[in-house]
Amino acid sequence: MDRARILIADEDDVLARTISWLLKEQGFDVAVTLGGERVLETLEKQEPDLLLFDVMMRGVDGYDLLRRINSDERWRDMPVLVVSALPTDEATARLLSLGATDFISKPFHVRELLARIRMQLRVRQELLHARSALHTTKIELDRVRAEAENGRQIVDILHEVTGDFSSEELYQILVRRVARALNISHCSLVLGRPGDQVGVVAAAFEAPGLTRLEIRLERYPEIRAALETGEPVLIEDMDASALYNDVRLDWAAAGTLVPFRSVVALPFRLDGEQAGVIFLRTLLGEAPLGRADLEFADRVVRAAVAAIRRAQIIETTRADKARFEALALTDPLTQTHNRRALMDRLTSELERARRYALHLSVLMVDLDHFKAINDSHGHVAGDEVLRGVSRILQREARAVDVVARFGGEEFVVVLPETGEEGAVRLAERIRARVEEMATVAGRESRQLGVTVSIGVATVPSPRVNSPEDLIAVADEALYRAKAQGRNQVCS
Ligand code: GH3
Ligand code: MG
Ligand code: MG
Repeated sequence: MDRARILIADEDDVLARTISWLLKEQGFDVAVTLGGERVLETLEKQEPDLLLFDVMMRGVDGYDLLRRINSDERWRDMPVLVVSALPTDEATARLLSLGATDFISKPFHVRELLARIRMQLRVRQELLHARSALHTTKIELDRVRAEAENGRQIVDILHEVTGDFSSEELYQILVRRVARALNISHCSLVLGRPGDQVGVVAAAFEAPGLTRLEIRLERYPEIRAALETGEPVLIEDMDASALYNDVRLDWAAAGTLVPFRSVVALPFRLDGEQAGVIFLRTLLGEAPLGRADLEFADRVVRAAVAAIRRAQIIETTRADKARFEALALTDPLTQTHNRRALMDRLTSELERARRYALHLSVLMVDLDHFKAINDSHGHVAGDEVLRGVSRILQREARAVDVVARFGGEEFVVVLPETGEEGAVRLAERIRARVEEMATVAGRESRQLGVTVSIGVATVPSPRVNSPEDLIAVADEALYRAKAQGRNQVCS
């Protein structure tokens, strides 16, 4: 604590000086006013921490003085220690009722006086602490309240934002929520990086349908500044801001009337990189944006950026997953379905055919003497032939059909809702197309002599209860086609 200031008012000059000297010895800062006339005036000037005065001074009504001090807000926390020659009981009752903090009878012991002064100063100190704590608590309370309100809105926003959204949808939500929370008409999200010439408006509250509108950033100096510095830009009055000096000329030249009054460009980062700004604007007739708006928007955006990031990760993960799943089901050489995908599809198609009493056929396609092709032209040419045949199969099949590489040089085509006749017709067409195949790997295919044999199987059939049964029946038909001389279809 600083040196406590004590004001002594007493008409007894000697006593006043003695007490003053004693108190100074004890480290107090002491002022003395002789007599009672100027006590109030001195109080105002000195603002002491404690007043010590004799209630029985000539020329002043000590009681009245006490009353006046007591009723003045300014001295509310100042202890008033009254010295008096009055009999103790009478003085105590009167003085304390008038607002004296303590009372000490003349003559007094110095030690007692000091003890009382110290005690009063300590109480005063505690009182001040308590008051300031109360004050801080109140401020804190207001802050917490405001924060809770902000927090509620943020939680609200995040609640919406943590759902299963694409980043585009999140941008929409974000601009809508920020605009509503701040009650402003114009709030958009502009994607861009420092130094970019063109920004992309990913979402705008004022234009909900808008998607990915490109804007020339040279016309938006506040966005450029925010992106380049990474700091929010707040322009309370666009008219008065030098930031627009250059564009203002362009506006004037083009006869453009800018309807906006104030602007906030709030940059945000994704993955540690400046990724864009939240762009808030108020119109000329509306209340201008201020610091508080900026801070609120900043908090919302910070919270939301995490959610946007999460949405992006989800999106990429989903895309990756889809890609991996597709990879896991695709034959790498021919880009047709692999055997696993085939069996899955065949199972569900067979189930569907059974449930709705539909026909379902499969073709088992096997290249003739393929070993010989490999042997005489090499594996690379062989691979080319496999790709050529798979292209024919995919071209001839309908969208609902499933073309799969069953193994080595064997393909299966699943034909939903197709009876034996239709299946044989398609098989025959495939056989012919392969035979006609113009070139393979830059060679005449006739030279290679590429042909296929095809076995056809169809359900309903008393022999088929499972996908494996159906494949087996097709395989038997294929075997017959091979046995009957190859380059033909058997069912
Ligand atoms: P068949 O007319 O009786 O079907 O005679 P084939 O020679 O076609 O029959 P086989 O089953 O004896 O030989 C199949 C050959 O297909 C053996 C193998 O080298 C070849 N093959 C299997 N997978 C591939 C592949 O991915 N690329 C290449 N180039 N050849 C393959
Ligand atoms: Mg073969
Ligand atoms: Mg084979």
